[in-house]
Amino acid sequence: MQGTLRGGSGPGLCAVGRWTLLVCSFFLASALGQMNFTGDQVLRVLAKNDKQLSLLRDLEGLKPLKVDFWRGPARPSLPVDMRVPYSELKDVKEYLESHGLAYSIMIKDIQVLLDQEREAMAKSRRLERSTSSFSYSSYHTLEEIYSWIDSFVTEHANIVSKIQIGQSFENRSILVLKFSTGGFQRQAIWIDTGIHSREWITHATGIWTADKIVSEYGKDCILTNILDTMDIFLEIVSNPDGFAFTHSMNRLWRKNKSSRPGVACIGVDLNRNWKSGFGGNGSNDNPCSETYHGPYPHSEPEVSAIVKFITDHRNIKALISIHSYSQMLMYPYGYSLEPVSSKEELCNLSKSAAQALYKVHGMQYTYGSISTTLYMASGVTVDWAYDSGIKYSFSFELRDTGQYGFLLPATQIIPTAQETWMAIRTIMIHTLNHPY
Ligand SMILES: [Zn+2]
Repeated sequence: MQGTLRGGSGPGLCAVGRWTLLVCSFFLASALGQMNFTGDQVLRVLAKNDKQLSLLRDLEGLKPLKVDFWRGPARPSLPVDMRVPYSELKDVKEYLESHGLAYSIMIKDIQVLLDQEREAMAKSRRLERSTSSFSYSSYHTLEEIYSWIDSFVTEHANIVSKIQIGQSFENRSILVLKFSTGGFQRQAIWIDTGIHSREWITHATGIWTADKIVSEYGKDCILTNILDTMDIFLEIVSNPDGFAFTHSMNRLWRKNKSSRPGVACIGVDLNRNWKSGFGGNGSNDNPCSETYHGPYPHSEPEVSAIVKFITDHRNIKALISIHSYSQMLMYPYGYSLEPVSSKEELCNLSKSAAQALYKVHGMQYTYGSISTTLYMASGVTVDWAYDSGIKYSFSFELRDTGQYGFLLPATQIIPTAQETWMAIRTIMIHTLNHPY
């Protein structure tokens, strides 16, 4: 992919220590045209009431394309995190202060975290090359992930295969891993990660999970039971164009990369483009918004590929869509405050899954329906899945709760994946034991 840092910051270029590396990566990034976030901050605001929440919502209108909500205004009990560019900091802080909105600085300088992340990737890449191995505790580019997929499938051909379910807007392959021990059109579990491209922890968790599935089959009797009866489909890079762009140009890109004649802004929010509740509350009809729902339901190739695959399959019994961050496990609906018909069962299952997750590293997840736990969000994956007859439809928001947000250090990949696995496993066993 053009413009990535692949091979950049190699030993020949910058071998003189940490500070030099940082400076080198800064200049390399600039030379390659990557967006620089020096001095940008993430502010956390705790709104006291609905009036303060609506003042925060007004900020988006006052500063279009400037304030990037990492956790949008939802309800007074939930913090609002927003990235504010250095050039807007003074104005935004004045706005908050003048309206009596208390804030704290969660991330003092985004670029510092980005430099550390890039440095860690470069270091890991050197090690991977010298040892011809793949590190599950590092972040990777799209090419690296796709090449890992190829060798992973070759190595475990008895149980894993690769399916191309479509092509992205920019013509990249949309790939799904199929874990199967045989049979035809068996009942199946669907898992997707990376619908929002900047949520790197989700792709990394997907990769670790794939490896976990093959290494635990035959050892973990629960997983073995699941795979002896059901198939598992795992789409790791659900938004390949956006993901490539997070490496080449803008680490904080969320949407896909589609463009339409006469429309100034690029990208559709792939978690607002689904048919259920399309265009309703918590989605935006402005193409420049981060939650733009697109021109019509399933307009985006990345969404329509999944819709077609799942609809044609006709035997998907659970769907798990993985996002970050906030540490939440949620079930439908996002588009409505009405409880779903299986609310009690889904709530109990979420509770068990969150407990299983907690036992691994003591991380607390909140759970409930999307609209009551997080906020109203329309046109989301799990609502479509539930309305299409997939009762066990869940959405995760992985680590953390805002210290690093989307820039979770790679050192947290494995613990995050380990705990998430226990929750996923809980949902899978329940699905196996409660056929419908
Ligand atoms: Zn997301």
